[in-house]
Amino acid sequence: MSAASLFQARGLVKRFGGLLATDHVDLAVEKGEIHALIGPNGAGKSTLVNLISGLLPLDGGSLSLDGVELTGLAPHQRVRAGLSRCFQVTSVFGHDTVLDNLLLAAQAHAGSSFRFLSRRSAEKELMDTALALAETVDLAGALHRIAGTLPHGAQRKLDVALALAARPRLLLLDEPMAGMGPEDSLQMVALIEKLRAQTAILLIEHDMDAVFQLADRVSVLDYGRVLASGDVDYIKGHPEVQAVYLGT
Ligand code: ADP
Ligand code: MG
Repeated sequence: MSAASLFQARGLVKRFGGLLATDHVDLAVEKGEIHALIGPNGAGKSTLVNLISGLLPLDGGSLSLDGVELTGLAPHQRVRAGLSRCFQVTSVFGHDTVLDNLLLAAQAHAGSSFRFLSRRSAEKELMDTALALAETVDLAGALHRIAGTLPHGAQRKLDVALALAARPRLLLLDEPMAGMGPEDSLQMVALIEKLRAQTAILLIEHDMDAVFQLADRVSVLDYGRVLASGDVDYIKGHPEVQAVYLGT
């Protein structure tokens, strides 16, 4: 972990009663990096993401993003500091159109200079932002579809677009390919690869083909501890990782 890491988590601890779900976890994500977090079911991956995004309070440890201390900040303050997440469960407003969802997200994260614009320029700026987000996630052809009626893969792309509206420096993705068929998975891999230019990514994913294709670095969680952390070749060749997770 270098002093210049974009994101640093130090000694994170979370207990659920007698269960140590997060056991002194250190984690760093560098600028431009896709860092994958893998591990068996119940290893503590979602708990870790919830601690990072502020959905769960920490029992110990500290977090910083780009030198800004996040420890103790509420989730929305962490979003403002540059941390955005995409949920495993689709968080879109199902009864609204794709465009309305994107406009709402763009408005929620509009900068402070925004209120000095005339109403017309403000509306144009929101529309431009919403259209650019739709373009990024390849939903420009579905703007007027009701979000809840989109196929699963398209809904997940919309989730990602909503998280991107916050213009994150670090994007947390908790199993973005869950429940997807091969075609949708390939599209999600291509999207995540494209996002690398905009934001660092912490990716939780069970699809090892996707992980090994995308990740610059992989950290393996087991019983709440970081079992190993390194590049893809290192992780693939790590005997303990093979034993507990890769099953080879
Ligand atoms: P993963 O995402 O890697 O599958 P989780 O972070 O969901 O793992 O869970 C880690 C451990 O913490 C599991 O043993 C799980 O049962 C437990 N756990 C998770 N959330 C809670 C909670 N809110 N209350 C009690 N135990 C929890
Ligand atoms: Mg999980």
